[in-house]
Amino acid sequence: MKPFKPEEVIVEQGSEQSPIWHNLRHALADVPFRVVESGSLLSVRAASTNDGFGDAKRRLYLTKHKGDFFKKCPGSEGQVCCNYFVINFASNCPMDCSYCYLQEYLSGNAELKVFSNVGDLIDEADRTLSKHRNVFFRIGTGEITDSLALEPYTGMVGELIPYFAEQPNVLLELKTKSDCVDSLLRFDPKGRIVVAWSMNPQKVIDRDEHFTASLKERLGAARRCQEAGYRLGFHFDPMIEYPGWETDYQAMIEEIFLTIDWRRLAWVSMGVLRDTPGLKRAMRERFPQTQLLTGEQVLCPDGKLRYFQPLRVTMYRKMVQWMRGVAPTVKIYLCMETREVWEQVFGYAPFCEKELGNQMAPSL
Ligand code: SF4
Repeated sequence: MKPFKPEEVIVEQGSEQSPIWHNLRHALADVPFRVVESGSLLSVRAASTNDGFGDAKRRLYLTKHKGDFFKKCPGSEGQVCCNYFVINFASNCPMDCSYCYLQEYLSGNAELKVFSNVGDLIDEADRTLSKHRNVFFRIGTGEITDSLALEPYTGMVGELIPYFAEQPNVLLELKTKSDCVDSLLRFDPKGRIVVAWSMNPQKVIDRDEHFTASLKERLGAARRCQEAGYRLGFHFDPMIEYPGWETDYQAMIEEIFLTIDWRRLAWVSMGVLRDTPGLKRAMRERFPQTQLLTGEQVLCPDGKLRYFQPLRVTMYRKMVQWMRGVAPTVKIYLCMETREVWEQVFGYAPFCEKELGNQMAPSL
């Protein structure tokens, strides 16, 4: 994977001297840095082309996060929720998948930002985790960014892993489409850190997951993490239906489950392509060649467009069958799907979100 390199780093006053600042200065010694007054960060924008969202990914902003770091995953109305929490240590992503929902979600706030006040993040997490020691938390860092794509420069995991690895009631998930795992290998995750990859066949990666690591690179990185003691997760999400998808997805599953020790997988999730009318507009403008806009979808009660339910059920059932063929006891769940779909795929639906969250709790 060719690592992303920002054209410039814009630093808001007050973020100099943070650990992330020092890491950036060290790793991006040949990139210009500019310190700007507090409050004027976003007046410094990249030269504008026809692709404002793409332009915003070319510069890196270092700033303090002003609101809460720790929140519950919003899920999607009417869908079975997996009781997941999120911590946002950055906003936007240097990679550029054509289906990325951030194109709509961050359309008015697209700057690629990393937050410097990691100490506040840890303090906030600690208040919640220590107050509810009898509750098991699954926490992810990849809601509005990729968890590891900026890692070679920010060294963020060096701030997070030593704290989260010591917490008895948590699994911290670092979700990525990169292969930037070198810095992780220095730490002992103590069974508390899950490194997870979004996986798609190479054909989908080539067409629609721009600037991400190849399937082989992701799998190689996963194997290295497993050998270093990390738990792994895989997310087959978004699954894309196209002529011949069965052959490609089945081959990918066999390759994954033969490369890693599936018995030590934390979880696997599945979800089909989802978008909204607004996201489709953004995709049409930014990626007019993508074939993702050609398939039929239906509008669901949560406002998202998905494939027809019978097609989704067929795709999930086939995936489960292929996975169970090579990994009979692996934990599989559906992301943003209805109880009805759960029942058709697995023969049951979790009674409540806590039940599903607890199913993902580790047996240490
Ligand atoms: S890797 Fe994830 S966050 Fe980054 S562009 Fe792709 S979908 Fe968006």
